[in-house]
Amino acid sequence: MNAEILAVGTELLMGQIANTNAQYLSRRFADLGINVYYHSVVGDNPGRLKDVLLRALERSDIVITTGGLGPTKDDLTKETIAEAMGLPLVVHRESLDYIRAFFKKQNRPMCENNAKQAYLPAGSKVIPNRNGTAPGCLIEQGGKVVIMLPGPPKEMIPMFEETVFPYFEGKTGYIIGSRMVKVFGIGESEVETRLMDLIEQQSNPTIAPYVGYGEISLRVTAKCHTRSEAEMLIFHVVEKIRERLGAYVYSDSGETMEEVVLKLLEKKGWTLSTAESCTGGMLASRLINIPGASRVFDRGFVTYSNAAKVQELGVRQETLDAFGAVSRETAEEMATRLVERTKTNAGLAVTGIAGPDGGTPEKPVGLVYVAACLNGETRSLKLNLRGDRERIRTVSCLHALDLLRRMLLGIQ
Ligand code: ATP
Repeated sequence: MNAEILAVGTELLMGQIANTNAQYLSRRFADLGINVYYHSVVGDNPGRLKDVLLRALERSDIVITTGGLGPTKDDLTKETIAEAMGLPLVVHRESLDYIRAFFKKQNRPMCENNAKQAYLPAGSKVIPNRNGTAPGCLIEQGGKVVIMLPGPPKEMIPMFEETVFPYFEGKTGYIIGSRMVKVFGIGESEVETRLMDLIEQQSNPTIAPYVGYGEISLRVTAKCHTRSEAEMLIFHVVEKIRERLGAYVYSDSGETMEEVVLKLLEKKGWTLSTAESCTGGMLASRLINIPGASRVFDRGFVTYSNAAKVQELGVRQETLDAFGAVSRETAEEMATRLVERTKTNAGLAVTGIAGPDGGTPEKPVGLVYVAACLNGETRSLKLNLRGDRERIRTVSCLHALDLLRRMLLGIQ
């Protein structure tokens, strides 16, 4: 079986958004062992959409579309595909009731246009959408499968995971289990060197590395006849990865660094505060993105100027004068003064030069100091980061969190 991903949306063609749906779906089809041979993108134009669909159906067994299922006039995916496949659109009662209830719950009036979303190609299997109004659908015709999903990833991904993935699992006769191992603080080539034999030899489970900003994710996927068999195979490979990478592995169940740190703190009943300069609140924002963060996270300061570092945190003017705002001394003082002021168990501080301007030969762009203070002990790191402002800020947050994670785990 091979698949083609067909993204619908003029925004994609205009470069206003990136086609992350295709990236996501390709990865998940690979997990299913289904080859994806083509990605196509077409605007909100029924003529061109029809052409691309017919072409896709000639060369692919599975065509999965995303986008264009909305209530407005330019959302034409369903109408166009149904027509091209010779299927009338018929009302799906359950979806109509669901859409009505959705609007009622949100106290918003429902437009007639929204009812259009409950019309689906005759004979199609409906894919419920818990996070929006547009249901998706799956059509089996002449040995081909056509699937339509909405564009927003927060709707598309759960629909794919809950309905489409199990549908294909059933077809392949296998159970596909997978786990994400998250790694930080070690380069991509070093990870590959350490895992080379595992990556090359293993066909079941497979290990697929994905490189993100400063961190690496390794998806371990097994294909078996039972869930427990898959879990067992994955477990053994994850253990081997842990042996090879040690404390660089911060999660083997796909958690983010901030989730891991918050959990470690919560287990001890400890609290956390942050003081940020060049990350400008990004660290605090990452932490409060995690549900339940309030049980651990107390407060965060953005102390961008020297004056703010003195007034808000109590950093000494002499420290700033002697070493500068971007220095180990200032970072450590930010962290220690922070916990003194907030009476939290842990404090994280970041100060650095995120660029693109502001660098000097002694203190170039990408020079960042992070410091962590945990129950009286303070540690800091000097970082020389590369990349643009966004990358430098993101990787700084990860280093700060990782420093605290290591202290919490008693790793030197
Ligand atoms: P809605 O019911 O919200 O209108 P839709 O199925 O009509 O959904 P579109 O209108 O095509 O979807 O896209 C809605 C939004 O979904 C886009 O503005 C964009 O944020 C996101 N989106 C659409 N297609 C993609 C894609 N291929 N990759 C990532 N995001 C996408």
